[in-house]
Amino acid sequence: AGVDLTGQRAIVTGASSGIGVETARALAMAGAEVTVAVRDVRAGERTAREIGAGTGNRLLRVAPLDLSDQRSVAAFVAAWDGPLHILVNNAGVSATPEMRTAEGWELQLATNHLGHFALANGLHRALAEAGGARVVSLSSIAHVSAPMVFEDVNFRARPYDRLLAYGESKTATALFAVEANRRWAGDGITVNVANPGAVVTNLGRHLTEEDYAQLPAFDFKTPQQGAATSVLLAAGPQLEGTGGRYFEDCQQAV
Ligand code: NDP
Repeated sequence: AGVDLTGQRAIVTGASSGIGVETARALAMAGAEVTVAVRDVRAGERTAREIGAGTGNRLLRVAPLDLSDQRSVAAFVAAWDGPLHILVNNAGVSATPEMRTAEGWELQLATNHLGHFALANGLHRALAEAGGARVVSLSSIAHVSAPMVFEDVNFRARPYDRLLAYGESKTATALFAVEANRRWAGDGITVNVANPGAVVTNLGRHLTEEDYAQLPAFDFKTPQQGAATSVLLAAGPQLEGTGGRYFEDCQQAV
């Protein structure tokens, strides 16, 4: 709240649903020029229209991006021109019963990790050009690396039985942040990892009651509450100059 992002250029991936929509809305509300990067361009246009009408921000753009397809990522990167201040690597997929196969495992890694990796890497020059850019990568409570690699993590991450491939992809996301912070510190780029907790979105729609019974009884948040973690890590002034942060649970972080 109270942050002015006028003149800042932002990309939010997966802004056709859930947390991504609310992240794009909050950044647009703060005055940023937001590109809604989605694989379903019509859904992206609906999002952009709705956010534009609600916020009065006239600088929303829509661009096609399928993170599971490296050619799509390369085309998106090639089309990007000029500096990029904020990249919210938000798009992601979770397991479905059908996806408990090599293909499903691969899709989750391709989207949640390799897609994020390729996008951030591809946009490195634009991020460096911005001076003080921030990347936010969406991880999850299902990943396992945070307590090992981030000093200020205070929860016990664990691999959940029904979400192992998802957990692997989100672990890789957090590890990428550690590596990117080492490599890109000299370019003024900070890569933060957001774990919003459990949020009611489309992500878990393929999980069965039996799957949920295996998971802890989460305290579910709204997408807007879930987006607060990403927004804080993308634009929170109190995080100026850190070398990459991991934040879970927006309610505690803000
Ligand atoms: P949703 O399913 O509501 O949104 C996921 C978004 O990612 C959609 O816009 C979807 O697009 C997009 N997406 C999926 N696959 C691709 C792809 N190959 N290329 C481009 N976009 C893609 O879920 P959430 O809002 O919950 O998820 C947002 C992020 O937050 C994810 O990374 C998720 O893992 C993470 N997260 C979610 C939590 C939760 O409890 N909900 C908890 C912790 C982390 P489309 O509409 O076309 O399918």
